[in-house]
Amino acid sequence: MAYFLIDSLKTQTYDALVVGSGISGGWAAKELTQQGLRTLLLERGRPVNHVTDYPTALLNPWELEHRGQVPLAVRNEYSIASRNYAFHEDTMHFFAKDSEQPYVQEKPYDWIHGYQVGGRSLTWGRQTQRWSDFDFEGPARDGYAVDWPIRYTDIAPWYSHVERFVGITGHKDGLPTLPDGEFLPPHEMSCVEKYFKQQVATRHSDRHVIIGRAAHITEPKPIHLQQGRARCQHRTLCERGCPYGGYFSSNASTIPWAMRTGKLTLRPHSVVHSIIYDEQKGLATGVRVIDTQTHQMTEYYARIIFLNASALHTNLILLNSTSHRFPNGLGNDSGLLGTHMAFHSYRGRVTATYDGFLDSTTDGRRPNSSYMPRFRNVFKQETDFLRGYAATFYSSRGQIDNQEGVGATLKQNLLNSQPGEWQVGSAMMAETIPKAQSTVRLDPVLKDNFGIPQLRVSVDYDDNDRKILKDFFEQFTEMYTQAGFKNIRAIDTGRLPGSENHEMGGVRMGRDSRTSLLNRWNQLHHCPNVFVTDGACMTSTSTQNPSLTYMALTARAAHYAVRQMKAKNL
Ligand SMILES: Cc1cc2nc3c(=O)[nH]c(=O)nc-3n(C[C@H](O)[C@H](O)[C@H](O)COP(=O)(O)OP(=O)(O)OC[C@H]3O[C@@H](n4cnc5c(N)ncnc54)[C@H](O)[C@@H]3O)c2cc1C
Repeated sequence: MAYFLIDSLKTQTYDALVVGSGISGGWAAKELTQQGLRTLLLERGRPVNHVTDYPTALLNPWELEHRGQVPLAVRNEYSIASRNYAFHEDTMHFFAKDSEQPYVQEKPYDWIHGYQVGGRSLTWGRQTQRWSDFDFEGPARDGYAVDWPIRYTDIAPWYSHVERFVGITGHKDGLPTLPDGEFLPPHEMSCVEKYFKQQVATRHSDRHVIIGRAAHITEPKPIHLQQGRARCQHRTLCERGCPYGGYFSSNASTIPWAMRTGKLTLRPHSVVHSIIYDEQKGLATGVRVIDTQTHQMTEYYARIIFLNASALHTNLILLNSTSHRFPNGLGNDSGLLGTHMAFHSYRGRVTATYDGFLDSTTDGRRPNSSYMPRFRNVFKQETDFLRGYAATFYSSRGQIDNQEGVGATLKQNLLNSQPGEWQVGSAMMAETIPKAQSTVRLDPVLKDNFGIPQLRVSVDYDDNDRKILKDFFEQFTEMYTQAGFKNIRAIDTGRLPGSENHEMGGVRMGRDSRTSLLNRWNQLHHCPNVFVTDGACMTSTSTQNPSLTYMALTARAAHYAVRQMKAKNL
């Protein structure tokens, strides 16, 4: 018997465990296996292989049973996910149903998941901007959250490391607020976007309209070809899964790369229940995993554990990891686990029309838009609200159909539709302030389908968010008016917190174990072989889309972990 036990312990023991195979988990798996660690990647969802498991990727619109629409009965099963802009008939298989993700909304909150290998890397919008010291120094300067334990110079080489592998299109704009990266050739701005850029620049030296930076290969480098990825085909069908690997997903890039090392074991259908803590060692020794098909629980062991289950799930796993030493969740001596949650406010939109440039139009499909980095309260506090917002700027000409006449005349008229006037718009992406009362906690009674406590989410907008929204409306209405745009509409979309998919916090980084959970290397202060490198680690949110920063922090932490293992410190 004893031999059997040893054998089974052996098969369940690895050098490293990674929980979650989405954007950040894919990076953890890649970096750890490349440095020689036998790594087990645990994923609660089903397998999704690159190319072969993208069932709609090459379908024409008329080949979709409902022409892209989702029938009401099906939509009702996805009442939360279906509010997401990317949820359609051709993408819905990459979103989780309500029944798969029961949670308690103490305040309305859209928690959107992709329960599959690759997580939300399959459906993300691919916008990737670096942070600068205006972001890392924000909490210390403006007196909220806690000071980040790192600065731009700590992470800059890791941004470069990630960008080269991912493939980021962008233009070197030389802006102090939005550091340049390792860019592939940029997409082109339309004539109206260039015009607006110039209009804004003539009135505001600190406001910049630039082409967006996005995870699309506009010109493959050898490192992308080695991954089997090719140039973006500009189909803008990205959320179906890209068979060309033209945009970055874990499935096209990091996971197959890690597989090639021969060091990766990928275990789908494996929901991590909790982390096992050994009081004698003062370290975590493994995780408890429930097989989602058999409901059997198994334990897996390793010297280090990376939590990359996405921000709220990572909070849940830690809160559910109780022991004699940590009765309130692993590493939670400060009592701050699950507090100071934050997100990005996407509530604002300003649209307009423009009747200039009627001799020009756009051609093809650009999987990107123009972008305005934050300009409020950057160099000094200038408003009655903290922080600020970035925004997109997009433009296109719609088609005007002439439906006059009957018979042959009508046919002729319909075949000769003309471009209409320019439609322009901006969507706000605002920072929210992490607060002690913005929390996720375990429900004491309610459980999910696997007997794991449900999460109670209590996150909401506050006065600062309302002031930011008002300012966004005022500033963009003014800039649009000055540019000669017409029919300007300021729209409060009423989007709920969480709906932007940028959930962050709960396990924040900091300098002091009394006021934070993680140190500057993303290690739990009180359980140093557990690393948290998804959105849960974020001390503040700033305005940039966050995934590039999760990837860079993950790569940085993985290299540190391996160095510490080699030095026998872990
Ligand atoms: C439509 C859309 C547009 C977006 N646009 C952008 C954008 O433009 N730019 C940007 O930066 N971000 C964008 N995002 C957000 C981006 O997708 C997330 O920030 C990113 O995926 C987070 O990475 P992650 O590794 O933390 O989590 P995910 O990618 O969500 O992966 C987490 C994985 O963990 C698994 N998991 C969860 N719990 C467990 C458990 N207990 N045990 C085992 N496995 C578990 C999940 O099934 C999932 O596969 C967008 C998201 C969506 C849906």
